[in-house]
Amino acid sequence: MENLIELDKRHFIHPTSSIQQQQKDGAKVIMEKGEGIYLTDTNGNVYIDAMSSLWNVNIGHGREELAEVAAQQLKKLAFSSAFSTFSHEPAIKLAEKIATISPTGLNAVFFTSGGSESNDSAIKLVRHYWKIQGKPGRRKIIALKRGYHGVAAASTSVTGIPEFWGMAGHMMIDFIHAESPYGGNTEKAIASLRQVIEDEGPENIAAFLVEPVQGAGGVLIPPADYFKEVRKLCDEYEILFIADEIITGFGRTGKMFGMENWGATPDLMTFAKGVTSGYIPLGGVVVSDHIHNVLKEKSKGTLFHGFTYSGHPTAAAVALKNIEIIEHENLIENSRKMGEVLLKSFKMVKENLDIVGDVRTIGLLGAVELVQNPVTNKRFAQELNVAPRVIEALYERGVICRPVTFNGTDIICFAPPIVIDNEQINTLVEKLYDSVLSVQKQLGVTS
Ligand code: PMP
Repeated sequence: MENLIELDKRHFIHPTSSIQQQQKDGAKVIMEKGEGIYLTDTNGNVYIDAMSSLWNVNIGHGREELAEVAAQQLKKLAFSSAFSTFSHEPAIKLAEKIATISPTGLNAVFFTSGGSESNDSAIKLVRHYWKIQGKPGRRKIIALKRGYHGVAAASTSVTGIPEFWGMAGHMMIDFIHAESPYGGNTEKAIASLRQVIEDEGPENIAAFLVEPVQGAGGVLIPPADYFKEVRKLCDEYEILFIADEIITGFGRTGKMFGMENWGATPDLMTFAKGVTSGYIPLGGVVVSDHIHNVLKEKSKGTLFHGFTYSGHPTAAAVALKNIEIIEHENLIENSRKMGEVLLKSFKMVKENLDIVGDVRTIGLLGAVELVQNPVTNKRFAQELNVAPRVIEALYERGVICRPVTFNGTDIICFAPPIVIDNEQINTLVEKLYDSVLSVQKQLGVTS
């Protein structure tokens, strides 16, 4: 373990990390194995993986079936190209399967290796769509403040969390952010979106790109009528509607895809994470029949956009098995039911403690907000580090969760594997209660 920590410091630049903190403190934990909702580290400590790692291990860790399918495919045909007119069965079958489970009218898939590549691809595709229709001026992409869409070139710029923009200078041009419906209502959020469209000029706008639930922004669940209004507005101005289903896809919200909760159908949908439950990297973009037809008719010559791993056969084989498990084990139903149990338990925690504000779930995507005053929703001073302290208290009790502290919020996010059961939720929420209580006491608040 000591040796691993030294090697980690010397050679491993971690994603989304403080390099100085790594050099000072070393790796906090080195994970060794996973089973179901649990992770075990090299010291034998067991943790509840309450975030499904990075919102992605939907069916839980350690499923032998996925390992077997991957081994079989690796032995038969580990990799071959899908460029130009080369193809192979796993990618064809996965594209067909994704078309079958996607919203009506979305039937053609472009594959990538992850979420950021999927959003960059969707952005290039919609610009191409307008270009081949003689409207090259439609380039601007609108998204929401607090939206998260990845860290590639365009996906960094479409992300609405300013912390992500500074690393290498500033963001790309032609990306604009409207108000999120968080903390407000549909009317206000739609008015902001309309204003942005009018200000930028509808004739310059290619698409609106949005998560059904803003995940990294703090699990922000829009009001029930929000996306129907978004759909209407996009139709009114002829703007394409792209749903980023990278967190919300594959059962996470109690539906196969998150947008189904709002009864709205996008023109394009990006996915990744839960498509393979993280066992192997894969992502993609699904497009509507209309877009596919325009591409078929008007996209002349080679479309110079393709990743080496677009349609990776082994990743595709794993995805097919993963989706089969989600369907055969009724995991979408489990996600919906257990999401209700989780919400009930969060409400009990709120009733019994003094610093819990809004609690919410949609399927197994949930959040608990910590506030100084739950009646007025007054927030804690940021220096108090309330959410990170609760995360630390949870960690000490064997639970891995994630804080969101943008704009002065203190939000604890939850996205456990969708195989979680009643008893495991009870254990998780007991540990949450104890953790919040301990921080509440440190803050001098007594229940
Ligand atoms: N979109 C959303 C909504 C995400 O949550 C993420 C990853 N957290 C991404 C895009 C980017 O995906 P990736 O990290 O696989 O590039």
